Parts: sequence; C-alpha cells; structure tokens
Amino acid sequence: MTLAGKALLPARRSTGTAAVVDERPPAGVRLLEVEDLTVSYGGVRALSGVSIVVPKGSVVALLGPNGAGKTTMLRTISGLVRPDRGHIRLAGRDITGWAPHRVARLGVLHVPEGRGVFPSLSVEENLLMAAYALNGSDDVVARGVELFPQLGTRLGQLARSLSGGEQQMLALARALLAKPRLVMLDEISMGLAPIIVTELLEAVKKMAQEGVTALIVEQYVEAALGMSDYAYLLDKGRLLTVGEPEDLKRSGMLSMYLGG
Ligand code: ATP
Repeated sequence: MTLAGKALLPARRSTGTAAVVDERPPAGVRLLEVEDLTVSYGGVRALSGVSIVVPKGSVVALLGPNGAGKTTMLRTISGLVRPDRGHIRLAGRDITGWAPHRVARLGVLHVPEGRGVFPSLSVEENLLMAAYALNGSDDVVARGVELFPQLGTRLGQLARSLSGGEQQMLALARALLAKPRLVMLDEISMGLAPIIVTELLEAVKKMAQEGVTALIVEQYVEAALGMSDYAYLLDKGRLLTVGEPEDLKRSGMLSMYLGG
C-alpha cells in the first residue's frame, strides 16, 4: 500500500481482541468519501451511520456476513437507493441522492451480481461496445485479450455460449476497459470456481495499477484481501473495523464474523 493510502486509514483503537473505528474522519486525498450513511428499506434499517473512505488508486474491500449491508452501500453510492442520512462525496463533490445516470457520468461504474454481457453479441462485439465508453478507442479488443487471454480464442463466439467464468471475464473486461474513475464490483465471483475468481481479481489489481480505483464486495475473503490495500468489516449495518489485510487477519475479527 502506498504511504499516501496509508495516511488515509481511519485510526483504530484496540479493545482487547476487537478493534473499533475512531470517529475522526481520515485526512488526505480521497476519491470516495461516505460519511455517516444511514439507509432503510421501508422500516428495515440496512446501514446505520457507516463512514468509509476509498483513496484514489486503491483497492478497498467491503466484507461482512449476509445482511451486513455491503450491497446496500454500493447501491446507495451509485444512486439506486436514497439514504435517510449522511453524505457521499466523489472527488470532493457531494453526490448524495444523485440519480444513477448522473453518478455514472462522473465515472462511477457499478458491476452488480450477475453477468453484464450482451448474450446475443459475439465476444468481439461485446468488447467493441465497451469502446463507445472510451470514445471509439480501437485497441479495446486487444486489451481485453491481454487482460483475459482465454477470450482471445472465443472472439467470434456468442457471449451466451461462453462458460459462466468466461462471461464474467468478458463482463469485467468491458467494465475495466471503460477506465472508470471508480469501479464497484459486487460479488463478481458468484458461482465461479476459485481459480477463475483469482484470475478475475488479478485483472482488477492490474487495472488498479493503471489508475482504476476499486471498491469490491467479495465472498472469497482470502482472495479479496490478497489484492486489497485495506478492508472494511461490516455487520448488521454497522461498521466494525477497518484496516490493512494483515492487521485485520491478526485482529481475529475476520474469523469471528466470517468464520474460517
Ligand atoms: P448479502 O451478502 O447477503 O448480499 P449484504 O451485506 O450485501 O448481504 P444487503 O443486501 O445490503 O446486505 O442487505 C442489508 C439488509 O437490508 C438485510 O437485512 C436485507 O434483508 C435488507 N434488504 C436488502 N435489500 C432489501 C430490499 N430491497 N427490501 C427490504 N430489505 C432489504
């Protein structure tokens, strides 16, 4: 992790085995800043006063058991859900409550669960469609194949005929090649073999090195931590702790809340 990224971590206080997040907001260069976010669905509280920071150029993981509020966090950032309270800032601009298309126009790309491909178009055509977001960049097919060599042998095939893993590679290539300012990935590994998941996350890491900032929700905790600069742990809509992967593992909080 870069020193700049490190400086952005909220300070933690240790309380025995558990660690709690200091209430002081972290200082430094932030791409995304979520402050005191509270979200409900009808009467059901999904997030309660959660604050997170995603520094520019970092990969940040959101971890937590089922129902922790991870998906709600991503959906609220991308404008699909309106918060009851709190603020969302992107590069210093308050985007709280903005419609999804306006948030997307600022370069926030949300890849929800499921495969984001055009099933009746070929692999090559799917990649070319991503080029529109790049204002007609013509090397998008070559770059897609560079990211996932396996797609190179499938260029003429319809996307619907690909395996689940290949479809997810294609979806991820389309998203990453659009060079979003912030890409939010929600369980892209759903239903896939661990070896494919590692390949998908490696591609995210590679793009992060080229300047894409990522906020990821991932059930394969080890794989997610292996490529993240730091991670937030949520439970029942509340933020439990934040830290660098090794510190989180050592704290015992991950095994306490996620098992294993
Ligand atoms: P999972 O890993 O199971 O997807 P999560 O951490 O992503 O969990 P969320 O999906 O954000 O958690 O759900 C947080 C809480 O909000 C849960 O109690 C869930 O039941 C509730 N919830 C989520 N979506 C809705 C909805 N559309 N309507 C009502 N309640 C919802």
